[in-house]
Amino acid sequence: MATRKMSCYESPCTKYIYDPKVGDYEHNIPPGTPFEDLPDDWCCPKCGAEKEFFEKLDE
Ligand SMILES: [Zn+2]
Repeated sequence: MATRKMSCYESPCTKYIYDPKVGDYEHNIPPGTPFEDLPDDWCCPKCGAEKEFFEKLDE
């Protein structure tokens, strides 16, 4: 099994970055939650963009 790398994802609003090490306090997402494991109805707390619009950031 490949080591899972937790990447940050940026919202199209460019002001919010989901950092899996931090999680999302506003949506009760605990620290250590990979972006891929966020609930399907999760969206950007700043602009409401859905997960599919987020762009993966290189570490
Ligand atoms: Zn946003």
